[in-house]
Amino acid sequence: MTSEKLKCDLCGSEIQKEPVRKNFDGEEKVFCCDGCARVYGEAHKKGLLNQILTNKSHKKG
Ligand SMILES: [Zn+2]
Repeated sequence: MTSEKLKCDLCGSEIQKEPVRKNFDGEEKVFCCDGCARVYGEAHKKGLLNQILTNKSHKKG
């Protein structure tokens, strides 16, 4: 049995404990903590999701 680790949809960290689950536009997202869930929710509301996710994944350039 493979135990697949979930990754936080905001910061990309592996989620070690129980994930925080939230629904956005019918899509379930998982987060490592309430903080990430809240930041994601705020960004989603303001339409800044692409911006913050891009910032997280492209540290150079
Ligand atoms: Zn996180």
